[in-house]
Amino acid sequence: MKEEPGKNIVLTQEEIEYCYGLLDESLTPYDCGKLCAPANGGEPLCCSVENAVPMLYREEFKYLSHRTELWRRWRPKSDVDKKMKKDDETPHLVFCECKGIAHCERENRSICCRTFPLEPYIDSDGVFIALIFMKEFRGKCPLLTRLKDIKQDVIDKHFEFWNFMLSKKQDEYDLYKDTSKGWRISAAKTGKPLPLLFPRSGLRKNGGLD
Ligand code: SF4
Ligand code: SF4
Repeated sequence: MKEEPGKNIVLTQEEIEYCYGLLDESLTPYDCGKLCAPANGGEPLCCSVENAVPMLYREEFKYLSHRTELWRRWRPKSDVDKKMKKDDETPHLVFCECKGIAHCERENRSICCRTFPLEPYIDSDGVFIALIFMKEFRGKCPLLTRLKDIKQDVIDKHFEFWNFMLSKKQDEYDLYKDTSKGWRISAAKTGKPLPLLFPRSGLRKNGGLD
């Protein structure tokens, strides 16, 4: 497990509930799981641990463990997965798995479930200005070709959520600064625009870490 320097404030129960409130609404006006499930054995692609292992904040896992039996720590089977767990878990984040889509409890979805497949985009000046599609799910999650379907109200609320989270967790800011840079590098190579989703202008002005 890597030790990470910097400010990483542990969220209170009230703060976790505040985040869940901001992330409660589904991204699209329709059930996007129907887009990817047919090619994924009938299950939404992002709800099967073979495709995406949810990472929960440690305090979030503790919070959810008091509310539900839906979640447990991820038990990797292959050597590759065991290495991933060893390398990527941090003092602040743990890999978890739920009981599966048939047992999903909407109110007990993790932050990771609620934000997928979007993450913060931090520009070359270090300012959080928009949401961006997760690069590793290009060609997997069909929403990349349907970004216009994502509701503006939801984008605004996710932006507010990330603004809050990035002000609390330095490691998250550093991570997304790196992934945003990676996106810029690959976009420069392909000539394709970055798949960005901007909040309404009033919110955008407040972006970034204080
Ligand atoms: S977010 Fe993407 S991968 Fe997840 S259910 Fe919707 S379309 Fe499928
Ligand atoms: S908790 Fe629900 S939304 Fe989250 S991964 Fe499990 S089935 Fe999917």
